[in-house]
Order: sequence, then C-alpha cells, then structure tokens
Amino acid sequence: MDLTLSEEHAELRATVEQFARTVVAPVAGELYERGEFPYDVVRRMGAMGLFGLPFAEEHGGMGGDYFALCLALEELGRVDSSVAITLEAAVSLGAMPIARFGSPTQQARWLPRLTSGEALGAFGLTEPGGGSDAAATRTTARLDGDEWVLNGAKSFITNSGTAITALITVTAVTGERDGRKEISSIVVPAGTPGLTVSEKYSKVGWASSDTRGLFLDDVRVPAENLLGERGRGYAQFLSILDEGRVAIAALGTGLAQGCVDESVRYARERSAFGAPIGSYQAIQFKIADMEVRAHTARLAYYAAAAKMLRGEPFKKEAAVAKLVSSDAAMANARDATQVFGGYGFMNEYAVGRFYRDAKVLEIGEGTSEIQRMLIARELGL
Ligand SMILES: Cc1cc2nc3c(=O)[nH]c(=O)nc-3n(C[C@H](O)[C@H](O)[C@H](O)COP(=O)(O)OP(=O)(O)OC[C@H]3O[C@@H](n4cnc5c(N)ncnc54)[C@H](O)[C@@H]3O)c2cc1C
Repeated sequence: MDLTLSEEHAELRATVEQFARTVVAPVAGELYERGEFPYDVVRRMGAMGLFGLPFAEEHGGMGGDYFALCLALEELGRVDSSVAITLEAAVSLGAMPIARFGSPTQQARWLPRLTSGEALGAFGLTEPGGGSDAAATRTTARLDGDEWVLNGAKSFITNSGTAITALITVTAVTGERDGRKEISSIVVPAGTPGLTVSEKYSKVGWASSDTRGLFLDDVRVPAENLLGERGRGYAQFLSILDEGRVAIAALGTGLAQGCVDESVRYARERSAFGAPIGSYQAIQFKIADMEVRAHTARLAYYAAAAKMLRGEPFKKEAAVAKLVSSDAAMANARDATQVFGGYGFMNEYAVGRFYRDAKVLEIGEGTSEIQRMLIARELGL
C-alpha cells in the first residue's frame, strides 16, 4: 500500500498549487465581490491543459486520469472554490458525458473545444420540482421526424450561461418502459431557439461561478443529439455523479486545507494579551482539529479515487468521501473564521469567502442526506 503520489501527479499538484497561489488568489476576492465570471483564469487554465486532464490525447486531452483532475481541484479549492467548481463542472459534468457516452461524431464535434477550455459544457439534471429525486424528471423530449422537441425547465445549472458555454446535456423523459419513465440525455447546443437561460442566481457562495435556470420551450435539436442509447439517461447520470462526488470531495478537501493554511498564518501574526494567538492552546487545538479533518477528507477521496482507477465499484467510497469532505469544509470554515475574529467576518479575508462557499458542498452533486442514503443502501439496508 503506497499513498505516495507518482512523479507526474506530484508535478501536476505543484504546478497547480503555484498557479492557484500566484494567479487565482490575487484576483479571487475581487471577482467574488463583483460576482464576475473568471474568464481570464479559465483561459489560463485551458492553456495549462487542466480542462483536458482526464481525456484521451486524440480528443485534445492530456491523457491523464481522474485522480489528476482531483489533485488540481484540491489545489484550486485551497484558494478559491468558484474557480474550482467551474473546472469541476466543465470537466466532470460538461465534457465527461460526451467522452463517455458520445458517438465518434459527437466526440469529434465537441471534445476538442471542451478539453481545451475554449468552450464549456454543462449538465442539466435538476429541475424546479426537485433534484434529489432525479428520476422524477418532468422535462420531456419527443421525436418529431428527425428532430427531438424538448419542453420543460432546469434549475441551478453550473456553467450554463457563460459567453463560452457551447452545450448543455439535458435529461428528459422520452417515453415509458415497463410502466416507468424512460429518461434519455440529449445535447442542446447553446443558443438553440426556444432555450432561455435565466439571469445568474444571486448566491450565498460560489459567487463568481455561473449558475442559472433554463427554460425549454419547443426546443428542436437533431435526432442524432441523443447521447448514447435512448432510455439510458438515468444510468448515465448516476455513473457521472459517482465520479463527480470524488471530484467534489477533492474540492472540499482543498477548502478545508485552505482554512488550515490561512489560520496557521494568521495565528502566528495576530497577538492578543501580549502573545501570538497561536501560542494559546485553545487556538492550537482548534487548528490541530482542522488539520485532522482536512487530512481525513484527503484520505477518503484518495481511497475512492484509487478504487475508481482500478475499475472497482466505488459508489460507497465516493459517497463517504463527499460526506467526510463537506463536513470537514463546513467545520473548518467555521473554525477558521473564529480564529480570525472580527476580520473573519470581513470580505477582504479569504476565510469569510470559505465560510460562504462551504455550505453548498453539503447540497450540490447529491445532498448529505442522499450520500447517507447511498451508503446505507450499499450496506444492504
Ligand atoms: C450552486 C449550485 C450548483 C448546482 N449545479 C448543478 C448542475 O450543474 N447541474 C444540475 O443538474 N444540478 C446542479 N445543482 C443542483 C443540486 O444538485 C441540487 O440542488 C441537489 O441535488 C438537491 O436538490 P434540490 O435542491 O432540489 O433539493 P431537494 O431534492 O428538494 O431536497 C430538499 C431537502 O430534502 C432532503 N431530502 C430529499 N429527499 C430525501 C429523502 N429521501 N430522505 C431524506 N432527506 C431527503 C434533501 O437532502 C434536502 O435537504 C446545483 C446546485 C447548486 C446550489
């Protein structure tokens, strides 16, 4: 058993760590305050190959693996979750379904732009009526000649309305099979008539990431925009979400670690009662507990990623990692803000941003309740 990173993984981690510290950190606070999408950072991440990390070179990717993506997300999450989620959603929800289930024609059409970061893809699963019970999808798609006609609405869709969004893969009911809804995935190119993308939501956190609602009103796309087999949409998104949970766990680990980084630095600099606050055991124990949570979260996502890369079932480990890391992120963000005292409540310090960003980790890509349900089910309950 060896938890040492390979030379390639270690090099990638170091490169992204430096990029996050020198390029992302200096601009993250301002973009967040203005709620501005990080176009320049995205362009630079594209040039570094981050959007292509887990994809084959023939599709413009870097030929790496999913763990490489996780390492990059952890390092970005240490300084800014908005940038990290933009990358996570673009790769795991935008490009991955095309790479995994797309026809050679769909892959050739979309992947080079998505893997280079020149364009972003999005995944529209959640609806206004509910996200956890995804099988309750109400959006419909019916075949009319050689076109699908889509009607319905989607909520909270990441990367769906940027100036470089190229497509949204939408889940829709395409019929009925054995008395159950037949759900399929259909690629809807951005700008298709009938597709309305709402204004950005005003969010508690992830302020500079792009999240919007979608309305589909007789949206017509060619029949060949069906992704993979008709009726496989539900199975497709379940597998995409399992992987995505490992990626989100890496992002949450980064946030938890970023809280440790900031707290150690501040506890050394800040004095109270004539001594650095870091010399008081109450602060030391708080930071030690934060380090334990970040470390545990990292081990949990490494374990899930290792199983995923070995091709073994990893549903339970992915849910455990997501749960552990979102708990760690929430607890560390609360404690880091406390270490900073009043400055922790001021937007100019990163820990306040971490505090607002942590909450959604308990909600997106399956809530904490859903992770517990998955774990219990895997235990045979
Ligand atoms: C910033 C952001 C970005 C997002 N990006 C995307 C995206 O790109 N694509 C996409 O498709 N979706 C996206 N989502 C949606 C996200 O995945 C859903 O919000 C999430 O799955 C929960 O669904 P819901 O909000 O409808 O809550 P609901 O499903 O209505 O759940 C409400 C509450 O009830 C609980 N609950 C539900 N069922 C049960 C049960 N059986 N037992 C116990 N408790 C239960 C839930 O855990 C939750 O606490 C995003 C959300 C946010 C906030």
